[in-house]
Amino acid sequence: MAVIAVVGGGITGLALAHRLRSRGKDAVVLEAGPRLGGVIQTRQRDGFSTETGPNSFLDREPATRELAASVGVEDRIRMADPAAKSRYLYTRGQLRPVPASPPAFLKSDLLPLGARLRVLAELFTGRASPGRDESLGDFGRRHLGAQATSVLLDSMQTGTYAGDLEALSAEAAFPMLKQLEHEHRSLILGAVRTQKARRTAAPTGTALKGAMCTFEGGLGTLVDALARALGPAARTGAEVEGLTRSQDGWRLSVRERGQHAELEASQVVLTVPAHVSAELLSPLDASLAGHLKAIPYAPIAVVHLGFAPGRTPAPDGFGFLVPAQEQRQVLGVIHASTVFPFRAEGGRVLYTCLMGGARRPDLVGLDEEALAALAQKELRELAGVTASPDFTEVIRWPRGIPQYTVGHLERLSAIDSALARLPGLHLAGNAYKGVGINDCIRTAAALADALTSR
Ligand SMILES: Cc1cc2nc3c(=O)[nH]c(=O)nc-3n(C[C@H](O)[C@H](O)[C@H](O)COP(=O)(O)OP(=O)(O)OC[C@H]3O[C@@H](n4cnc5c(N)ncnc54)[C@H](O)[C@@H]3O)c2cc1C
Repeated sequence: MAVIAVVGGGITGLALAHRLRSRGKDAVVLEAGPRLGGVIQTRQRDGFSTETGPNSFLDREPATRELAASVGVEDRIRMADPAAKSRYLYTRGQLRPVPASPPAFLKSDLLPLGARLRVLAELFTGRASPGRDESLGDFGRRHLGAQATSVLLDSMQTGTYAGDLEALSAEAAFPMLKQLEHEHRSLILGAVRTQKARRTAAPTGTALKGAMCTFEGGLGTLVDALARALGPAARTGAEVEGLTRSQDGWRLSVRERGQHAELEASQVVLTVPAHVSAELLSPLDASLAGHLKAIPYAPIAVVHLGFAPGRTPAPDGFGFLVPAQEQRQVLGVIHASTVFPFRAEGGRVLYTCLMGGARRPDLVGLDEEALAALAQKELRELAGVTASPDFTEVIRWPRGIPQYTVGHLERLSAIDSALARLPGLHLAGNAYKGVGINDCIRTAAALADALTSR
């Protein structure tokens, strides 16, 4: 049977290969690193359970539930604790709660009064001229005004992209916002109507509650279950170094545990970061490689700070984000042990600080000790945590999160046209149509379905 080679064993590659195999295709995963999961890995140490990359996923994607069910871990999905319901933003020198409803927003001091009134004027905003790709910053100022954009939209993008408001494309990075504008003109009107429609349409007792979730045992539980299901079809320590066309499809040159090998495949799916795909494809199509190389990545550092029982009170809420205009060193902080209490045993407290991003890429170059000290200083100054941590763990991702900058959609269509000239070659993963775990799983499922229907 013709082999489908899936290059990269992150969540995209694993989900794709698993779905292909469950539909009777002979798919193999080639993962360069020593373990599967890509940026997703859960570690257990000193009474803390830490995540190297993502912390959670929103339980609103049927493909994610379906994947979890198909590898036997749907019953291990765990929702965030009710204590994590509130969220905070650090603005004008202090933490302020994010209001849960439009009337609460109007009464809150999250933004100065003038800025809140300007947000109300959004009801009268016109649509953008069609076909114009604008930055999230421009889009936000048109709809919500300058201050709300710098506080609310910047925090929103930081929470997903750790990016730069002026560089991200509104349409590529937040297609929902552009869709609301397209369908309803005003985002506020659109949001209210959508919520109303959802309330009337949602069947009671639906499994997808849109809650923030992880798995018992962390996100690594899903990776481990996929690894078990794939068995020897997922090969670690197998770095794909070259790709050429062969008579019946593709020939991959693979360095596997120090040895060179070749693999013939009828189809190849590259789920590796875009710059790795660019390297592999540049001998085949320089212009395709150029488009892939043009997708930038923001570096990001994850700093876990853990406290022994009784050393510091457990914080309330999910955590807080810090807009760029505050000029702080931290992008945001997750109250990890409040969100998922099982991540810290016996009354321990765990904070996860995110640093760097497009805003401060230099910070990711600091050594681990300096990053931990900086995170601790920020936690003290922003959230008043004066105790010294008993546990620290620092993970640096020099190319952490792909950035859907202005021109991204145009790049994607140029990439699609180039791929049409290379039959049997496909691209998937977080660099193209969504960076969240749900996006990766949904797009992997759609590609698997397209490949099996041929
Ligand atoms: C710090 C951080 C926090 C995040 N937080 C969240 C969150 O809370 N919620 C959420 O939904 N999303 C979050 N994300 C985003 C999400 O986790 C990722 O977008 C997603 O996991 C990426 O999966 P992937 O398979 O596309 O890529 P990756 O995980 O990057 O996997 C690609 C794989 O390809 C392998 N590879 C590279 N080169 C080769 C080669 N030549 N041959 C073979 N293999 C190769 C790599 O080793 C890697 O394993 C976060 C991301 C980061 C970095």
